[in-house]
Amino acid sequence: MALIIEDSCINCDMCDPECPNEAITLGEDIYEIDVDKCTECIGHYDKPTCINVCPIDSIKKDPEHIESEDELFAKFMRMHG
Ligand code: SF4
Ligand code: SF4
Repeated sequence: MALIIEDSCINCDMCDPECPNEAITLGEDIYEIDVDKCTECIGHYDKPTCINVCPIDSIKKDPEHIESEDELFAKFMRMHG
């Protein structure tokens, strides 16, 4: 599933440059993840790299956007294949 950034985000900009899919951008108030681009880092890393760098644990799995590994990998192939 795609990930979501919660309201606790402090706009520290640590996650944005780490995303291999350029899925993270600064929104109106806080950083946001584009669900059409987030692959949970499948195809690039073993685990979501943005979660690793967020200092306050603001990035969570988004239950509104559940996707299988195959679907996430297909998204990766569309962007990088
Ligand atoms: S999980 Fe990976 S692809 Fe998704 S927003 Fe985080 S860094 Fe980007
Ligand atoms: S790393 Fe965490 S706190 Fe920093 S901008 Fe990203 S989501 Fe927000």
